[in-house]
Amino acid sequence: MQDAGASIWNMPIAYIKGVGPQRAELLKKELQLFTGRDLMMHFPYRYYDRSEITPIAKLSPQQEYAQVKGRLLQFQLVESNRYSTASRLIAELEDETGFVQLVWFNGWQWVRKSLQPGKTYLAFGRLSFFNNIPQIVHPELHDSQTAPHAWPYEPVYPTTEKLKSRGLNSRAITRIMAAFWEKISDKDIPENLPEHILQRYQLMERAKAFRAIHFPNSLAEAEAARRRLKFEELFLSQLRIALLRHQHHEQSKGWKFEQVGALFHALYNKLPFALTEAQKRVIREIRRDMLTGHQMNRLLQGDVGSGKTIVALLSMLIAVDNGFQACLMAPTEILAQQHFRHIQELLDGLPVELALLTSSVKGATRRQILDGIAAGHIRLLIGTHALIEDVVQFARLGLAVIDEQHRFGVAQRAALWEKSDIPPHVLVMTATPIPRTLAMTVYGDLDVSVIDTLPPGRKKIITVHRTSDRRHQVMDFVKSQIRQGRQAYIVYPLIEESEKLDYENLMRGYEEVKAYFPEPEFRISMVHGQQSAEIRNTNMQRFVQGITHIMVATTVIEVGVHVPNASIMVIESAEKFGLSQLHQLRGRVGRGAHQSYCILLTAPEIGKEAMERIQVMTQTNNGFLIAEKDLALRGPGDIEGTRQSGIMEFKLADVVKDNDLLMKAREAAQQLLEQDPLLMQAEHSQLLSWLQKDNRKTHWSKIS
Ligand code: ADP
Ligand code: MG
Repeated sequence: MQDAGASIWNMPIAYIKGVGPQRAELLKKELQLFTGRDLMMHFPYRYYDRSEITPIAKLSPQQEYAQVKGRLLQFQLVESNRYSTASRLIAELEDETGFVQLVWFNGWQWVRKSLQPGKTYLAFGRLSFFNNIPQIVHPELHDSQTAPHAWPYEPVYPTTEKLKSRGLNSRAITRIMAAFWEKISDKDIPENLPEHILQRYQLMERAKAFRAIHFPNSLAEAEAARRRLKFEELFLSQLRIALLRHQHHEQSKGWKFEQVGALFHALYNKLPFALTEAQKRVIREIRRDMLTGHQMNRLLQGDVGSGKTIVALLSMLIAVDNGFQACLMAPTEILAQQHFRHIQELLDGLPVELALLTSSVKGATRRQILDGIAAGHIRLLIGTHALIEDVVQFARLGLAVIDEQHRFGVAQRAALWEKSDIPPHVLVMTATPIPRTLAMTVYGDLDVSVIDTLPPGRKKIITVHRTSDRRHQVMDFVKSQIRQGRQAYIVYPLIEESEKLDYENLMRGYEEVKAYFPEPEFRISMVHGQQSAEIRNTNMQRFVQGITHIMVATTVIEVGVHVPNASIMVIESAEKFGLSQLHQLRGRVGRGAHQSYCILLTAPEIGKEAMERIQVMTQTNNGFLIAEKDLALRGPGDIEGTRQSGIMEFKLADVVKDNDLLMKAREAAQQLLEQDPLLMQAEHSQLLSWLQKDNRKTHWSKIS
């Protein structure tokens, strides 16, 4: 905020009129309100219409709250008896058109002492109907002679049970807010958007918007205020992203990989398949990035099975051909090993030294690998986050590839960034398709490549929904497939709240599966989160090698596992999984030449949303479509990877519901920067100084 109002905005909340030290403690703890600024940003989520007095005959059950005015009649105490559970005090309030009942379940003494039958009162409260008679329980009553209600639309603020029990209900917060706003003038809330944008998008001025969102004169005004403030959030975030990206492209230093050399060509020529057009396009994009002299910061999105690994490997070989090292970081040990073996096979016979480094590589082997990396003769390093530990010192790291990005925190990416003075190029790969709308918000500073086609010849995975009372038939089907030489996954949900329960579910499932599939004809592997990495790995390997027929697992197999012969995925309690998780799991099958199946088992009765998820799954195999649906069903807060990005912390805007506004904000930001890329024009000076002051969010984007 600018200087004029600085003291008000930074004022500790305890000094605000009506707060004081004790309430301040509560407000800090319960609502994270520390300063005047926090209070200003504590927005109401609805308003009570206090602007109108409804004639009693016009009250309708559709109305949640009502304000009426009338004469108070006699009190009547209704004692509890066998039929009615609670004693209550009732009075009638009468206007020319009818009467309402006012009801109190407690506080009678005070009510009787302070209210006078025969007088006219204004009553407000939640409306209900009992035997067709309108009732207001525990109404708010005002002497109708005194001034009308202070706020025509009374704001309703978020609060908590604890705050309410200490007298800090919405009304109390409203009083604090009102006192606070009396101290504030429009000067304290300077405009931060340029005039031409206000005009073009018909936005309310900032000072007016802040006042009106708290204390509107009409619901339309409240709505316009909200729209303006949402636009501001979205626009500033879009602008910040665009600026960072611009800066990054202009200013960052990066290695220049000028040659496409021997290793790249050697692998390219000996690939057992032709690259898809999408793969080729992405490789071209990456090559171009690595030639600019600026650091590459690219996100590679591709549905499960779209062939991201080969793209990564070819990119890594470009680094090696230019005298650099490259690393590939996977989220789990199993995946790191799988990548390692896959890459080892592909590179068989080529003169390039590669190594696998995970936390279970120990002792002399570990020492040797670390030495080899430091000396520079190990050119390709594959591993888990063990790669970013301090002891790993690359001689010359040119490219870092991060697979399944959402499992990595921002801090881990930052560590990677710091591994040399000129940072390595970074390629982040994800199989969790991010809807375009969200991608530009979350990853707006990254360049995005998409592999949007699957390699040819993939058969569509047949997905069906079955209720658990038909588990027998499902298992019979699995049996027939295994007898034809296939393998199957049977997956149980992971309910984060209770590891113990998960474990018990899984064990019960395992026993059941064993009963359906008796040894020695059938062999079963089981992996779950409570096993040591070694045991998990052994069990996994037995399945990969085809020694076992069935893999019983919790969602630890979710990402990246590649067993082409496995053609059946049975998901137990599928209603408990999120859409993107279901899609990831399904992606474990359909990797070989055989027709694959995904069977979603659910309880016979499931909720509406769960049913929608299941339907989406049975209708489409398209990851992007599923991601869009997922976003619509769950909202952005739950999409993996968005929470940690820090950019989604909008107070008002919702990138799903406010998508239209987001598009406008984005368009506005882009046009503004086209005209004035560095915000040097006078009419943008406010905006520039605003962005410079409010740059809390810049750190993350440097490191993605
Ligand atoms: P993901 O994108 O899920 O990481 P992978 O890179 O693991 O996918 O590739 C899945 C499988 O498809 C691998 O066995 C890989 O060798 C194969 N593959 C990749 N590209 C092609 C292609 N262009 N044609 C045929 N098979 C391919
Ligand atoms: Mg993969």
